Amino acid sequence: MKSTMQDAPLNISRLLAHAARVHPDAEVVTATPDGVRRRTFAEVTERAARLAGALRACGVDGDQRVGTFMWNNAEHLEVYLAAPSMGAVLHTLNIRLFPDQVTYVANHAEDKVVVVDASLLAPFTQLLPTFETVTHVLVAGPEAADADLSELEATGRTILRYEEALAGAEPVTEWPQIVETDAAAMCYTSGTTGNPKGVAYSHRSMYLHSMAVAMGDAMGLTPYDRILPIVPMFHANAWGLPYAAIMVGASLVMPDRWLQPEPLTRLIASERVSVSGAVPTIWNDILTYADANPADLSSIRLVPCGGSAVPLGLQQALAQRHGVQIRQAWGMTETSPVATCAMPPVGVDPESEEGWRYRASQGRPLAGVTARIVGDSGEELPRDGVAVGEVEVQGPWVTGSYYKDDDAESQAKFRDGWLRTGDVGTLDRQGYITLTDRAKDVIKSGGEWISSVDLENHLMSHPDVLEAAVVAIPDEKWDERPLATVVLREGATADLDSLRDHLAQKFAKWQLPDAWAFIEAVPRTSVGKFDKKVIRKEFADGALD
Ligand code: ADP
Repeated sequence: MKSTMQDAPLNISRLLAHAARVHPDAEVVTATPDGVRRRTFAEVTERAARLAGALRACGVDGDQRVGTFMWNNAEHLEVYLAAPSMGAVLHTLNIRLFPDQVTYVANHAEDKVVVVDASLLAPFTQLLPTFETVTHVLVAGPEAADADLSELEATGRTILRYEEALAGAEPVTEWPQIVETDAAAMCYTSGTTGNPKGVAYSHRSMYLHSMAVAMGDAMGLTPYDRILPIVPMFHANAWGLPYAAIMVGASLVMPDRWLQPEPLTRLIASERVSVSGAVPTIWNDILTYADANPADLSSIRLVPCGGSAVPLGLQQALAQRHGVQIRQAWGMTETSPVATCAMPPVGVDPESEEGWRYRASQGRPLAGVTARIVGDSGEELPRDGVAVGEVEVQGPWVTGSYYKDDDAESQAKFRDGWLRTGDVGTLDRQGYITLTDRAKDVIKSGGEWISSVDLENHLMSHPDVLEAAVVAIPDEKWDERPLATVVLREGATADLDSLRDHLAQKFAKWQLPDAWAFIEAVPRTSVGKFDKKVIRKEFADGALD
């Protein structure tokens, strides 16, 4: 039997129209060097309609890709709304990627127009000549008015100032009817070998993902929230927070390029931010700052945090010393990205030891996402919280392939309709996933697995340890052995023996790192995660004991 329901596609233009009609007074606040600038949803959506007109004038009349090379700010949100609504595809370029990778992804996606922040003109000017398909560039942000564009113009492309283009544009008043399964946006993930891989999100997948992110078992977002996405809008769509905010009418507070703890904590206090998402390394920096300086974090009710395992010590320190509650989420660029969220089950006190154990897990799949774990030969393993295998996921916001990429490595990421995540861990009968490692980071010593994540978490619970990253180094006898790199807090006195004793309280002797290195800072990836590739390379010979 057919339903009697209307066939209303789940399109981004529907979100835009909703924001304009229902939440016109919600705000988009963007940090500036000496304060903030403000726009309402009414203004942002009206400007998005003008931007769409300006993009039309640049020749965007179908599913052309509109790239962004931008910080988190109001203009970036305008592109988020305009490009998909007009039927084009938003493509967020990672401003921190190696230049040849940015070139690769812009060319692979065939970006036609790029919107760039004027504050990023220096790196962008180097890149533009390598972008083969870009015909137009819009230069945005307060500094655009006075920016010298002559070097960009010398590339022969059409270079426009964003505000001038908007002022002269005919706003789009009727959005095209787009099939909800068509692409709305794309992001590239860094491949472990070879080139980055493209994921194309559909209107439907982004709509459903935004709803899931806003639900109570995830972020529980409401119009009363003021959301600060510190996670870049080029990192898996800032975890869906911008669209989810638009959907529920929550105000957005954008940090632009001021991403250090001091301006961030000032912004949190002055704008009474209630929800803020960032990777653990950023929260570690904020914690260190807030421990040593006056910082008012009292407005924060929830911190969605993920991208890498969130150390229990970090969660507890933020909760106990600053009243900030982290909610761990897990996902990947391939999963839009939020797939699971960690809240303890009913009946378990979140402050109890058991409660903290659940909060330190990766959590349970959001409705729509199904997870399983599989063994080496692809057999499904029991959901008993004990068996360890690779996590595979399925769902309406999980990618089923990579964009224009079906080499062997890409194909190997999919099995019978499941995405193989490359993450290794356990799954219990209530659906909780606890990751022990990424497949590429596991340490296999004498045939036994040692969890680098467990070692790191325990090391980082030592009061003298600021950061720790554990990697495998080759070993003649055992194949691989753990090497621990440690960053001590300023003025800390812990020595190797005390750190080893600390670990020995929880780990068997054979699991303890053989090699140690005290370092100044753990190298980070373009999205702020520990970069184990670099550490492994540096210490491959295991020279440090
Ligand atoms: P990249 O592979 O470039 O880091 P992603 O941002 O898509 O790109 O990273 C996804 C990976 O990040 C996951 O496969 C997982 O290994 C890791 N990750 C994300 N969230 C968590 C989490 N809460 N705990 C542990 N690992 C996580």
